[in-house]
Amino acid sequence: PGTLFIVSTPIGNLEDLSARARRTLSEVDLVACEDTRRTRALLTHLGIQKPLVSYHKDSPRKREEDILGALLAGKHVALVSDAGTPLLQDPGGELVRRALAEGIRVVPVPGPSAALAAWVASGFAGGPFLFYGFLPRRKGERRKVLADLRDFPYPIIFYEAPHRLRATLADLLDVFGDRPASLARELTKVHEEILRGSLEELVRWAEAADVRGEITLVVAGAEEATSREEGLQPSSEERLAEALA
Ligand code: SAM
Repeated sequence: PGTLFIVSTPIGNLEDLSARARRTLSEVDLVACEDTRRTRALLTHLGIQKPLVSYHKDSPRKREEDILGALLAGKHVALVSDAGTPLLQDPGGELVRRALAEGIRVVPVPGPSAALAAWVASGFAGGPFLFYGFLPRRKGERRKVLADLRDFPYPIIFYEAPHRLRATLADLLDVFGDRPASLARELTKVHEEILRGSLEELVRWAEAADVRGEITLVVAGAEEATSREEGLQPSSEERLAEALA
């Protein structure tokens, strides 16, 4: 069979597309993507012409079978999402599982992801973390998830839509209590902005601002929150320095 390549594409800045991603996209037989118009624009920018097949969260199961069929017939397929790394809160999980079950080789072509970009610049990075992604939209469910995450000792990464940011920050402050957090907006784009402060400060900022664009939140873990307050436990960076000494 052919190979399924999981190809990361830029989250804003086109210069972030890797040389290998470009070569892979130019060499495969088929590109499976969320929004064919968007991916067509990217490929045109790269001077690449390829057959595209749309594969998104509402795609019929038959679409997955078509892609698996192409792979089993020996075709090489690249899976891309609208932005960043496929499967990170984007489609592909089921396709990869089914491809592996069929004995198809799955190869990552790593690159940009908003989660990792926000995390490395947050000020809480260097140790373990949890990538949560989007919280439930319903307030009750969201607060329940947050209650379950409250005592998690390491930083947590959330994706959020601008129009839900205020509600989410308010619930975070309410359920987690005040603790350090970082808000990354429009990463790698012209209006990139990274705010670092306490949840309370971010709530106040979001109340005053006309919040737009794509947002990733990184919230300090329970351990960091306590150690900053009490100055008792070493931060994850200090632990890392110790481990490297
Ligand atoms: N697969 C993508 C990745 O690798 O980051 C994420 C896809 S997810 C459907 C879209 C969410 O990612 C947005 O709602 C936002 O929370 C986050 N995001 C995407 N691009 C971003 C950017 N340039 N800056 C900040 N957050 C971003």
